[in-house]
Amino acid sequence: TAAEEPAPNGPVSTTTRSMTVMPAWVIDKYGSNEALRFTKNAGFPVINYPNEVIVRVHSAGLNPLDVRMRDGYGSASLSMKRDPLNIKSSSEFPLILGRDVSGVIMECGLDVKYFREWDEVWAAIPPWKQGSLAEFVVLSANEVSHKPKSMSHREAAAVPYAASTAWSALVNTGGLSKDNCAKKRILILGGSGGVGTFAIQMLKAWGAHVTVTCSQNAELFVRGLGADHVVDYTAGPVEEPLGALEKFDLILDNVGGDTERWALTLLKPWCGAKFVTLVTPFLQNTDRLGIADGMMQNAATVATKALKHLVKGVHYRWGFFVPSGPVLDEIREMVDAGQIRTVVEDTFCFSQVPEAFEKMEKGHARGKTVVQIS
Ligand code: NDP
Repeated sequence: TAAEEPAPNGPVSTTTRSMTVMPAWVIDKYGSNEALRFTKNAGFPVINYPNEVIVRVHSAGLNPLDVRMRDGYGSASLSMKRDPLNIKSSSEFPLILGRDVSGVIMECGLDVKYFREWDEVWAAIPPWKQGSLAEFVVLSANEVSHKPKSMSHREAAAVPYAASTAWSALVNTGGLSKDNCAKKRILILGGSGGVGTFAIQMLKAWGAHVTVTCSQNAELFVRGLGADHVVDYTAGPVEEPLGALEKFDLILDNVGGDTERWALTLLKPWCGAKFVTLVTPFLQNTDRLGIADGMMQNAATVATKALKHLVKGVHYRWGFFVPSGPVLDEIREMVDAGQIRTVVEDTFCFSQVPEAFEKMEKGHARGKTVVQIS
Protein backbone atom coordinates (compact mmCIF):
# COMPACT_ATOMS: atom_id res chain seq x y z
CA THR A 1 0.00 0.00 0.00
CA ALA A 2 1.03 3.64 -0.28
CA ALA A 3 1.66 3.91 3.45
CA GLU A 4 3.78 0.77 3.38
CA GLU A 5 6.05 1.97 0.60
CA PRO A 6 9.62 2.12 1.85
CA ALA A 7 10.97 5.64 2.24
CA PRO A 8 13.91 6.73 0.07
CA ASN A 9 16.51 5.79 2.70
CA GLY A 10 14.96 2.60 3.94
CA PRO A 11 12.11 2.03 6.37
CA VAL A 12 11.37 5.01 8.57
CA SER A 13 8.08 4.26 10.20
CA THR A 14 7.43 2.29 13.36
CA THR A 15 4.20 0.78 12.09
CA THR A 16 2.66 -0.05 8.78
CA ARG A 17 -0.94 0.44 7.83
CA SER A 18 -3.24 -0.92 5.27
CA MET A 19 -5.01 2.30 4.33
CA THR A 20 -4.26 3.67 0.87
CA VAL A 21 -6.99 6.26 0.57
CA MET A 22 -8.90 8.60 2.88
CA PRO A 23 -11.80 11.06 2.74
CA ALA A 24 -10.77 14.67 2.00
CA TRP A 25 -11.86 17.90 0.37
CA VAL A 26 -9.53 18.62 -2.55
CA ILE A 27 -9.20 21.06 -5.42
CA ASP A 28 -8.07 19.88 -8.87
CA LYS A 29 -7.65 23.42 -10.22
CA TYR A 30 -7.63 26.92 -8.78
CA GLY A 31 -10.93 28.77 -8.78
CA SER A 32 -14.07 29.65 -6.85
CA ASN A 33 -15.93 27.42 -4.39
CA GLU A 34 -16.97 25.12 -7.25
CA ALA A 35 -13.36 23.93 -7.34
CA LEU A 36 -13.85 22.20 -3.97
CA ARG A 37 -14.49 18.48 -4.39
CA PHE A 38 -15.14 15.84 -1.74
CA THR A 39 -13.52 12.48 -2.35
CA LYS A 40 -13.21 9.27 -0.38
CA ASN A 41 -10.13 8.41 -2.43
CA ALA A 42 -7.54 11.05 -1.55
CA GLY A 43 -4.05 9.60 -1.24
CA PHE A 44 -3.27 8.45 2.30
CA PRO A 45 -0.33 10.46 3.70
CA VAL A 46 3.04 8.70 3.67
CA ILE A 47 5.91 9.10 6.15
CA ASN A 48 8.80 9.97 3.85
CA TYR A 49 11.28 11.16 6.46
CA PRO A 50 12.08 9.64 9.86
CA ASN A 51 11.11 12.83 11.73
CA GLU A 52 7.55 12.84 10.41
CA VAL A 53 4.28 11.93 12.10
CA ILE A 54 0.83 11.10 10.76
CA VAL A 55 -1.97 12.87 12.60
CA ARG A 56 -5.62 11.82 12.55
CA VAL A 57 -7.48 15.11 12.15
CA HIS A 58 -10.28 15.73 14.64
CA SER A 59 -10.79 19.42 13.84
CA ALA A 60 -9.42 21.68 11.11
CA GLY A 61 -9.20 25.47 11.26
CA LEU A 62 -9.60 27.79 8.28
CA ASN A 63 -7.78 31.05 7.60
CA PRO A 64 -8.13 33.78 4.94
CA LEU A 65 -5.11 32.13 3.29
CA ASP A 66 -7.21 29.03 2.45
CA VAL A 67 -9.64 31.09 0.39
CA ARG A 68 -6.78 32.85 -1.36
CA MET A 69 -4.93 29.58 -2.03
CA ARG A 70 -8.12 28.09 -3.49
CA ASP A 71 -8.07 31.07 -5.88
CA GLY A 72 -4.43 30.36 -6.84
CA TYR A 73 -2.61 32.83 -4.58
CA GLY A 74 1.01 31.81 -4.00
CA SER A 75 0.83 28.95 -6.51
CA ALA A 76 4.19 29.65 -8.19
CA SER A 77 6.13 30.12 -4.97
CA LEU A 78 4.47 27.23 -3.16
CA SER A 79 5.01 24.85 -6.10
CA MET A 80 8.69 25.76 -6.02
CA LYS A 81 8.83 25.07 -2.29
CA ARG A 82 7.08 21.71 -2.81
CA ASP A 83 9.44 20.66 -5.58
CA PRO A 84 12.55 22.91 -5.60
CA LEU A 85 14.42 20.99 -8.29
CA ASN A 86 11.32 20.55 -10.47
CA ILE A 87 11.93 16.82 -10.67
CA LYS A 88 8.45 15.52 -9.91
CA SER A 89 6.24 15.04 -12.92
CA SER A 90 3.03 15.40 -10.87
CA SER A 91 1.43 18.77 -10.16
CA GLU A 92 0.28 20.03 -6.76
CA PHE A 93 -3.25 18.71 -7.50
CA PRO A 94 -5.31 17.25 -6.00
CA LEU A 95 -4.50 19.86 -3.35
CA ILE A 96 -5.88 19.68 0.19
CA LEU A 97 -6.43 23.06 1.93
CA GLY A 98 -6.73 23.76 5.68
CA ARG A 99 -3.83 25.16 7.71
CA ASP A 100 -4.86 24.30 11.30
CA VAL A 101 -5.16 20.86 12.82
CA SER A 102 -6.01 19.42 16.20
CA GLY A 103 -5.94 15.66 16.39
CA VAL A 104 -4.19 12.49 17.52
CA ILE A 105 -0.87 11.02 16.41
CA MET A 106 -1.43 7.74 14.56
CA GLU A 107 2.08 6.92 13.44
CA CYS A 108 5.61 8.17 14.17
CA GLY A 109 8.75 8.08 12.04
CA LEU A 110 11.70 6.24 13.61
CA ASP A 111 13.52 9.42 14.73
CA VAL A 112 10.53 10.95 16.49
CA LYS A 113 11.34 11.17 20.21
CA TYR A 114 8.88 13.64 21.72
CA PHE A 115 5.62 12.16 20.49
CA ARG A 116 3.99 8.77 20.65
CA GLU A 117 0.99 7.24 19.01
CA TRP A 118 -2.28 8.49 20.56
CA ASP A 119 -0.74 11.79 21.79
CA GLU A 120 -3.20 14.66 21.35
CA VAL A 121 -1.51 17.35 19.27
CA TRP A 122 -2.11 20.61 17.42
CA ALA A 123 -0.18 22.20 14.57
CA ALA A 124 -0.17 24.94 11.96
CA ILE A 125 0.51 23.32 8.60
CA PRO A 126 2.92 25.13 6.27
CA PRO A 127 1.09 26.25 3.09
CA TRP A 128 3.31 24.12 0.85
CA LYS A 129 2.09 20.91 2.55
CA GLN A 130 -1.19 19.04 2.16
CA GLY A 131 -3.70 20.51 4.60
CA SER A 132 -6.11 19.41 7.29
CA LEU A 133 -9.42 19.17 5.40
CA ALA A 134 -8.85 15.42 5.39
CA GLU A 135 -8.94 12.54 7.85
CA PHE A 136 -5.14 12.35 8.11
CA VAL A 137 -2.19 14.67 7.55
CA VAL A 138 1.58 14.13 7.62
CA LEU A 139 3.78 16.70 9.35
CA SER A 140 7.33 17.11 10.60
CA ALA A 141 7.51 16.49 14.33
CA ASN A 142 9.07 19.93 14.81
CA GLU A 143 5.88 21.52 13.45
CA VAL A 144 3.71 19.69 15.99
CA SER A 145 3.04 20.35 19.67
CA HIS A 146 0.99 18.72 22.41
CA LYS A 147 -2.45 20.30 22.45
CA PRO A 148 -3.54 22.27 25.54
CA LYS A 149 -5.34 20.01 27.99
CA SER A 150 -7.84 22.75 28.74
CA MET A 151 -9.12 22.88 25.16
CA SER A 152 -11.29 20.56 23.08
CA HIS A 153 -10.04 19.66 19.58
CA ARG A 154 -12.60 22.10 18.17
CA GLU A 155 -11.23 24.97 20.27
CA ALA A 156 -7.61 23.98 19.69
CA ALA A 157 -8.00 23.94 15.89
CA ALA A 158 -8.87 27.63 16.02
CA VAL A 159 -5.49 28.61 17.39
CA PRO A 160 -2.23 27.44 15.72
CA TYR A 161 -1.90 29.36 12.42
CA ALA A 162 -3.26 32.72 13.58
CA ALA A 163 -1.58 32.57 17.02
CA SER A 164 1.79 31.44 15.53
CA THR A 165 1.56 34.34 13.06
CA ALA A 166 0.81 36.80 15.88
CA TRP A 167 3.77 35.36 17.84
CA SER A 168 6.11 35.50 14.85
CA ALA A 169 5.16 39.13 14.10
CA LEU A 170 5.34 40.33 17.71
CA VAL A 171 8.27 38.27 19.01
CA ASN A 172 10.52 37.31 16.06
CA THR A 173 9.96 40.45 13.98
CA GLY A 174 8.83 42.96 16.60
CA GLY A 175 11.33 41.93 19.30
CA LEU A 176 8.66 41.81 22.03
CA SER A 177 8.53 39.25 24.84
CA LYS A 178 6.92 38.76 28.21
CA ASP A 179 9.95 40.47 29.78
CA ASN A 180 9.99 43.75 27.83
CA CYS A 181 6.34 44.72 27.27
CA ALA A 182 5.43 46.24 30.63
CA LYS A 183 5.71 49.90 29.65
CA LYS A 184 5.10 49.52 25.92
CA ARG A 185 2.24 51.01 23.94
CA ILE A 186 1.12 48.79 21.08
CA LEU A 187 -1.33 49.54 18.27
CA ILE A 188 -3.06 46.68 16.43
CA LEU A 189 -4.64 47.70 13.13
CA GLY A 190 -7.45 45.17 12.57
CA GLY A 191 -7.88 43.56 16.01
CA SER A 192 -11.12 41.61 15.57
CA GLY A 193 -9.95 38.82 13.21
CA GLY A 194 -7.90 35.67 13.75
CA VAL A 195 -4.45 37.20 14.18
CA GLY A 196 -5.67 40.30 16.04
CA THR A 197 -7.58 38.39 18.71
CA PHE A 198 -4.46 36.38 19.66
CA ALA A 199 -2.15 39.40 19.43
CA ILE A 200 -4.35 41.33 21.88
CA GLN A 201 -4.34 38.48 24.40
CA MET A 202 -0.58 37.83 24.17
CA LEU A 203 0.26 41.50 24.62
CA LYS A 204 -2.11 41.90 27.56
CA ALA A 205 -0.63 38.79 29.22
CA TRP A 206 2.82 40.42 28.84
CA GLY A 207 1.62 43.70 30.39
CA ALA A 208 1.52 46.01 27.34
CA HIS A 209 -1.00 48.80 26.78
CA VAL A 210 -3.01 47.80 23.70
CA THR A 211 -4.91 50.07 21.32
CA VAL A 212 -6.98 48.38 18.60
CA THR A 213 -8.75 49.51 15.44
CA CYS A 214 -11.86 47.58 14.42
CA SER A 215 -15.49 48.09 13.40
CA GLN A 216 -17.76 49.69 15.97
CA ASN A 217 -19.71 46.43 16.33
CA ALA A 218 -16.51 44.61 17.37
CA GLU A 219 -15.62 47.03 20.18
CA LEU A 220 -17.12 45.01 23.04
CA PHE A 221 -15.58 41.85 21.58
CA VAL A 222 -12.01 43.22 21.52
CA ARG A 223 -12.44 44.89 24.92
CA GLY A 224 -13.48 41.47 26.25
CA LEU A 225 -10.12 40.14 25.06
CA GLY A 226 -8.32 42.90 26.96
CA ALA A 227 -7.96 45.86 24.54
CA ASP A 228 -7.40 49.06 26.54
CA HIS A 229 -8.42 51.56 23.87
CA VAL A 230 -10.53 50.99 20.75
CA VAL A 231 -10.82 53.15 17.64
CA ASP A 232 -13.71 52.53 15.22
CA TYR A 233 -12.41 52.58 11.67
CA THR A 234 -15.92 52.74 10.21
CA ALA A 235 -16.49 56.17 11.80
CA GLY A 236 -13.96 57.87 9.48
CA PRO A 237 -10.21 57.92 8.89
CA VAL A 238 -8.46 56.47 11.95
CA GLU A 239 -5.31 58.58 11.43
CA GLU A 240 -6.94 61.51 13.21
CA PRO A 241 -8.08 59.89 16.47
CA LEU A 242 -4.92 57.76 16.58
CA GLY A 243 -2.72 60.81 15.93
CA ALA A 244 -4.18 62.49 19.02
CA LEU A 245 -2.92 59.62 21.24
CA GLU A 246 0.51 59.17 22.85
CA LYS A 247 2.85 57.61 20.28
CA PHE A 248 3.40 53.85 20.03
CA ASP A 249 6.36 51.47 20.47
CA LEU A 250 5.05 48.94 17.96
CA ILE A 251 2.28 48.77 15.37
CA LEU A 252 0.99 45.39 14.14
CA ASP A 253 -0.76 45.88 10.80
CA ASN A 254 -3.34 43.21 9.87
CA VAL A 255 -5.10 45.48 7.38
CA GLY A 256 -2.59 46.63 4.74
CA GLY A 257 -3.70 48.85 1.89
CA ASP A 258 -2.71 52.44 2.53
CA THR A 259 -2.00 52.01 6.26
CA GLU A 260 1.76 52.37 5.80
CA ARG A 261 1.22 55.79 4.21
CA TRP A 262 0.29 57.27 7.60
CA ALA A 263 0.78 54.67 10.36
CA LEU A 264 4.55 55.05 10.80
CA THR A 265 4.07 58.68 11.90
CA LEU A 266 2.29 57.26 14.98
CA LEU A 267 5.51 55.56 16.20
CA LYS A 268 7.92 57.06 18.77
CA PRO A 269 10.92 58.19 16.67
CA TRP A 270 14.52 57.22 17.51
CA CYS A 271 13.45 54.68 20.18
CA GLY A 272 13.64 51.45 18.15
CA ALA A 273 9.88 51.58 17.47
CA LYS A 274 8.66 49.20 14.74
CA PHE A 275 5.87 48.91 12.20
CA VAL A 276 5.26 45.23 11.39
CA THR A 277 2.85 44.50 8.56
CA LEU A 278 1.45 41.04 7.80
CA VAL A 279 -0.06 42.21 4.54
CA THR A 280 2.87 42.03 2.13
CA PRO A 281 3.24 41.62 -1.65
CA PHE A 282 5.74 38.76 -1.09
CA LEU A 283 3.83 35.91 -2.80
CA GLN A 284 2.13 38.17 -5.38
CA ASN A 285 5.56 39.26 -6.55
CA THR A 286 6.90 35.73 -6.94
CA ASP A 287 3.64 34.59 -8.59
CA ARG A 288 3.74 37.51 -11.02
CA LEU A 289 7.44 37.74 -11.78
CA GLY A 290 8.68 34.21 -11.14
CA ILE A 291 10.84 33.15 -8.21
CA ALA A 292 14.13 34.88 -9.11
CA ASP A 293 12.72 38.23 -10.25
CA GLY A 294 10.00 38.14 -7.60
CA MET A 295 12.55 37.66 -4.81
CA MET A 296 14.67 40.51 -6.24
CA GLN A 297 11.57 42.70 -6.31
CA ASN A 298 10.75 41.73 -2.71
CA ALA A 299 14.27 42.52 -1.51
CA ALA A 300 14.27 45.86 -3.33
CA THR A 301 10.79 46.84 -2.06
CA VAL A 302 11.42 46.01 1.58
CA ALA A 303 14.91 47.58 1.57
CA THR A 304 13.62 50.81 -0.01
CA LYS A 305 10.76 51.08 2.47
CA ALA A 306 12.94 50.20 5.46
CA LEU A 307 15.49 52.86 4.47
CA LYS A 308 12.83 55.49 3.81
CA HIS A 309 11.50 55.07 7.35
CA LEU A 310 14.86 54.47 9.04
CA VAL A 311 15.96 58.03 8.26
CA LYS A 312 12.85 59.17 10.16
CA GLY A 313 13.91 57.08 13.17
CA VAL A 314 11.41 54.19 12.90
CA HIS A 315 11.69 50.61 11.63
CA TYR A 316 9.60 49.10 8.83
CA ARG A 317 9.28 45.28 8.71
CA TRP A 318 7.33 42.51 6.97
CA GLY A 319 5.96 39.79 9.26
CA PHE A 320 5.29 36.19 8.27
CA PHE A 321 3.74 33.02 9.58
CA VAL A 322 6.46 30.60 10.69
CA PRO A 323 5.56 26.96 11.45
CA SER A 324 7.00 25.96 14.83
CA GLY A 325 6.13 23.29 17.39
CA PRO A 326 8.22 25.02 20.10
CA VAL A 327 6.26 28.28 19.62
CA LEU A 328 3.03 26.29 19.95
CA ASP A 329 4.44 24.83 23.19
CA GLU A 330 4.77 28.41 24.52
CA ILE A 331 1.26 29.27 23.32
CA ARG A 332 -0.06 26.09 25.01
CA GLU A 333 1.41 27.26 28.32
CA MET A 334 -0.37 30.61 27.92
CA VAL A 335 -3.62 28.79 27.09
CA ASP A 336 -3.36 26.44 30.05
CA ALA A 337 -2.49 29.42 32.30
CA GLY A 338 -5.75 31.08 31.22
CA GLN A 339 -3.95 33.92 29.40
CA ILE A 340 -5.18 33.03 25.91
CA ARG A 341 -8.62 31.78 25.07
CA THR A 342 -9.83 30.56 21.76
CA VAL A 343 -12.49 32.45 19.86
CA VAL A 344 -14.44 30.09 17.59
CA GLU A 345 -16.90 32.15 15.61
CA ASP A 346 -18.43 29.32 13.56
CA THR A 347 -18.18 25.52 13.43
CA PHE A 348 -19.06 23.46 10.33
CA CYS A 349 -19.20 19.69 9.87
CA PHE A 350 -17.02 17.87 7.33
CA SER A 351 -19.81 17.82 4.72
CA GLN A 352 -20.13 21.62 4.95
CA VAL A 353 -16.64 22.67 3.84
CA PRO A 354 -17.99 24.77 0.90
CA GLU A 355 -20.27 26.61 3.34
CA ALA A 356 -17.28 27.22 5.62
CA PHE A 357 -15.38 28.77 2.68
CA GLU A 358 -18.41 30.92 1.80
CA LYS A 359 -18.44 32.20 5.36
CA MET A 360 -14.71 32.96 5.23
CA GLU A 361 -15.15 34.81 1.92
CA LYS A 362 -17.68 37.19 3.46
CA GLY A 363 -14.92 38.56 5.73
CA HIS A 364 -15.80 40.49 8.92
CA ALA A 365 -14.30 37.71 11.04
CA ARG A 366 -14.78 37.84 14.80
CA GLY A 367 -12.40 35.02 15.63
CA LYS A 368 -12.03 31.73 13.80
CA THR A 369 -13.89 29.22 11.61
CA VAL A 370 -13.51 25.50 12.41
CA VAL A 371 -14.48 22.30 10.56
CA GLN A 372 -15.18 19.16 12.61
CA ILE A 373 -13.61 16.24 10.72
CA SER A 374 -14.14 13.28 13.08
P1 NDP B 1 -9.33 37.88 9.43
O1 NDP B 1 -10.10 37.90 8.18
O2 NDP B 1 -9.58 36.82 10.45
O3 NDP B 1 -9.51 39.27 10.18
C1 NDP B 1 -9.43 40.52 9.58
C2 NDP B 1 -10.17 41.49 10.53
O4 NDP B 1 -9.90 42.85 10.20
C3 NDP B 1 -11.69 41.31 10.47
O5 NDP B 1 -12.15 41.15 11.79
C4 NDP B 1 -12.19 42.61 9.85
O6 NDP B 1 -13.47 42.88 10.38
C5 NDP B 1 -11.10 43.60 10.26
N1 NDP B 1 -10.91 44.74 9.37
C6 NDP B 1 -11.09 44.79 8.02
N2 NDP B 1 -10.74 46.00 7.54
C7 NDP B 1 -10.31 46.72 8.60
C8 NDP B 1 -9.81 48.05 8.76
N3 NDP B 1 -9.68 48.88 7.71
N4 NDP B 1 -9.45 48.46 9.99
C9 NDP B 1 -9.57 47.64 11.06
N5 NDP B 1 -10.05 46.37 11.00
C10 NDP B 1 -10.41 45.92 9.78
O7 NDP B 1 -7.80 37.87 9.04
P2 NDP B 1 -6.52 37.38 9.90
O8 NDP B 1 -6.55 38.06 11.22
O9 NDP B 1 -6.41 35.91 9.89
O10 NDP B 1 -5.34 37.96 9.02
C11 NDP B 1 -5.14 39.38 8.94
C12 NDP B 1 -4.30 39.68 7.71
O11 NDP B 1 -2.99 39.15 7.87
C13 NDP B 1 -4.87 39.08 6.42
O12 NDP B 1 -4.69 40.02 5.37
C14 NDP B 1 -3.99 37.87 6.18
O13 NDP B 1 -3.92 37.55 4.82
C15 NDP B 1 -2.66 38.36 6.73
N6 NDP B 1 -1.81 37.27 7.18
C16 NDP B 1 -0.53 37.25 6.73
C17 NDP B 1 0.32 36.25 7.13
C18 NDP B 1 1.74 36.27 6.66
O14 NDP B 1 2.47 35.25 6.79
N7 NDP B 1 2.23 37.40 6.14
C19 NDP B 1 -0.13 35.13 7.98
C20 NDP B 1 -1.49 35.29 8.46
C21 NDP B 1 -2.30 36.33 8.05
P3 NDP B 1 -14.49 43.95 9.72
O15 NDP B 1 -14.37 43.78 8.22
O16 NDP B 1 -15.85 43.59 10.21
O17 NDP B 1 -14.02 45.27 10.22
